[in-house]
Amino acid sequence: MKSSNFIAIALLALLSINCMDRKTTTDTAATAPIFAKGEKGPAENFTGNAWNTPLVGDDSIYNTVIGNVYFEPGARSNWHSHPSGQILIITDGAGYHQVKGQPRQTLKKGDVVKCPPNVEHWHGASEDTGMQQLYILPKTEQGIVTWLQKVTDAEYKQSE
Ligand code: MN
Repeated sequence: MKSSNFIAIALLALLSINCMDRKTTTDTAATAPIFAKGEKGPAENFTGNAWNTPLVGDDSIYNTVIGNVYFEPGARSNWHSHPSGQILIITDGAGYHQVKGQPRQTLKKGDVVKCPPNVEHWHGASEDTGMQQLYILPKTEQGIVTWLQKVTDAEYKQSE
């Protein structure tokens, strides 16, 4: 083999290894949580384990609350409503959102949900996969949340 050919092959091999390394790094980054796990949501408002991390606190300039919730598999909020509505941005995993009287909606990474003001609803993870959601609560001078009853297993599984 001519030495120039050998060098070319050696360079190709090095480049391939470099590409494989980069792919592995990207995949790891895509599945790592963005925010801290936070504090466990209170049992009177959640079924299962839901972890809340406040990101933007309420103040009189923005009147907006932003945070992240990680729902473990099977975990969900109680039924509740927001006086000024809520926007959810799903950043990982899989879950559900349901408005009272409507079918349960499946959520996945990248979905954006607008929950209208004073509409009764719940959100949470799927049975097998957890869900990461960012929540945005606007116009907090009108209030943030009104908590209601638990989401029963039958409601969660849509079996009634
Ligand atoms: Mn909500």
